Amino acid sequence: MLHFRNLCLLFAVVFLVGFTPPEDSLKITYIGNCGFLYENKNYKIIIDPFGTQYGEVFQLPSSQLTGQIVAGLPPFDNVQLLLISHFHGDHFDSKLTEQFLLNNKSAILICPSQVLNVLKDSCRNLESIKSRIIIPSMENGKFDSVQLKGLNLKVLKLQHGSTRNLETLSYSEYTDYEKTENFGFVFQMSGKYVFHQGDGSLKLNRNLIKSFNTKLDISHLGFFDKDSTSLSLLYNVMKARNIIVMHSFKPDKSAESEKLKKLNGNLIVYDKELDFRKF
Ligand SMILES: [Zn+2]
Repeated sequence: MLHFRNLCLLFAVVFLVGFTPPEDSLKITYIGNCGFLYENKNYKIIIDPFGTQYGEVFQLPSSQLTGQIVAGLPPFDNVQLLLISHFHGDHFDSKLTEQFLLNNKSAILICPSQVLNVLKDSCRNLESIKSRIIIPSMENGKFDSVQLKGLNLKVLKLQHGSTRNLETLSYSEYTDYEKTENFGFVFQMSGKYVFHQGDGSLKLNRNLIKSFNTKLDISHLGFFDKDSTSLSLLYNVMKARNIIVMHSFKPDKSAESEKLKKLNGNLIVYDKELDFRKF
């Protein structure tokens, strides 16, 4: 007969086994602003890891952390894929991107052509890295599939957000800021679908989002999406199960957390760089 203490031990083991994420779980580590590392035992992806500008308003990664990423030090060793959503300085830095590709010789970069143009203007070693840069080309509101070894990636051309109501304006009336080429990314790791929209506004891109018939396991709430309309698109249209907040506004942190609380979603907020969570 089982002794009471052994019975407790058995329950504890069953409980722990039952609630420990499986071996091939997806681990998501916060870098800063919209920067995250997504990894499982076979693959590592980093998105928007090199924000260096507007640190007074956004929570950027420290220079120590970007140095670690560029050098390929754990947990950023063997990163296969670097995804840059757009060229704005709180998401991308050309020198760090160049150095990352020089140091990490098998890593591939996927980004919009405006990012490549900045790299062309500032990189001294473009010739030695350009064969590993992929620039999908499509109109706003369309997506493209990119087949990589071990990963099926969808790249969505999303309208960058704006404080103006772009739906009442024609494209010729857009500012350069509003004409920023912005990519969103959808990929599957460890059986889970992930979506990162960069600075794309979900509301402005609702037609593409509605046509995109993928149930999301992990999604993000971006800078232009911290309201109930976007949250409803994520929950009701994209069937998002986990929503991670990104691109937080630093000067008024308490106002933002109040706003997020009122949204009443089951939102995940990472506190500081290198915080991680398994899914
Ligand atoms: Zn932006």
